Amino acid sequence: MTAQLIDGNALSRQLRADVSARVTALKAKGITPGLAVVLVGDNPASQVYVRNKVKACEDTGMHSVLERWPATLSEAELLARVDALNHDKTIHGILVQLPLPAHIDAQKVIEAISPAKDVDGFHIASAGALMTGMPGFWPCTPYGCMKMLESIGYELKGKHAVVIGRSNIVGKPMALMLLQQNATVTICHSATKDLKALTLQADVIVAAVGKRNVLTVDMVKPGAVVLDVGMNRNDEGKLCGDVDFDGVKEIAGWITPVPGGVGPMTITMLMVNTLESAERLVS
Ligand code: NAP
Repeated sequence: MTAQLIDGNALSRQLRADVSARVTALKAKGITPGLAVVLVGDNPASQVYVRNKVKACEDTGMHSVLERWPATLSEAELLARVDALNHDKTIHGILVQLPLPAHIDAQKVIEAISPAKDVDGFHIASAGALMTGMPGFWPCTPYGCMKMLESIGYELKGKHAVVIGRSNIVGKPMALMLLQQNATVTICHSATKDLKALTLQADVIVAAVGKRNVLTVDMVKPGAVVLDVGMNRNDEGKLCGDVDFDGVKEIAGWITPVPGGVGPMTITMLMVNTLESAERLVS
C-alpha cells in the first residue's frame, strides 16, 4: 500500500475529546448542550444511526432526547413536535432522521426546524449561508471530509477537486466547501459523460454516490487524495464504500477506509454543531 490512511476513528476521538472539554466549560456556565433526535417509523438502518448519535451525546457529556414515533405519525403531528422542540430551551440542536415515511413531506419538516437549531445543516437557510459564505451550520458529512483534509494539512488552494455525486446533503455542500477553500471544483453525476477523464485530472476526489467500485485504480492520478463517503454492502454483506479500496490504495497519496473513515466523522461533526449552537448563547 502506498497511500496513507486517513483514520476517521482516530480523528473523531481527538475532536470528541475537544468537544467534551468545551461541554464541561459550558456546563460550568450553566448550559448543557442538548440534541433532540426524532425518529419516525422503524427503518433498521435509521435505528442504528440514531442510537449512535445519542451515544455520542452521552460520551461527550451532552444532553440528548430521542423521540421515537410510529410510522403512522401524521405530518401535522410531526410539525407540532418540531415546533415544540424549537421552543425547548434545553435543546440546541434538532435532527429529524431521514428518510421519513412517504406520507410526510421531508423538506417541509426540515424547513420547520429553526435555523438556529438546524445542526444537520439541511435547512434552506443553512444551505444559503454556506453558498454565500455566511455563518451557519454545515452539513455534517462534507464538514467531516473537510476536517479530514485539514487533519493531514492539505492545502486546497489551486488544487483540482472532483466531487462525484450532487445530493443536497453531501455532493453539493462538499463542492461549495472545497470552493470556499479555493480549490477548482468539478461536480460529477449520473449524466457525466466521461467520469474517468475528469477523475484522472483530480488532486482530490470525493466519492459520494452509493454504488460500489465507482472509483477504480485506473481512474486515479498517482498521489491523489481520495475520500470515500459511500456506504454499500459487498457480496459478503460487509460494509464497503464507493471506492475499490484495495486497488486505489496502491496509487493514491491518501485514502479513507470504509468503515472507519467518513462515517464516524459525520457523527462527530454533529456533536460539534450542537455544541457550537449552545456556545452561541454565551458568546
Ligand atoms: P444520493 O442522494 O442518492 O446521491 C447520489 C449521487 O450520485 C447523485 O447525485 C447521482 O447523480 C450520483 N450518481 C449516481 N450514479 C452515478 C454514477 N454512475 N456516476 C456518477 N455519479 C453517479 O446519495 P447521498 O445521500 O448523496 O449519499 C451518497 C452515498 O453516501 C450513499 O452511499 C450514502 O449511504 C452515503 N452517505 C454516507 C454518509 C456517512 O456518514 N458516511 C452520510 C451520508 C451519505 P444524479 O444526481 O444525476 O442522480
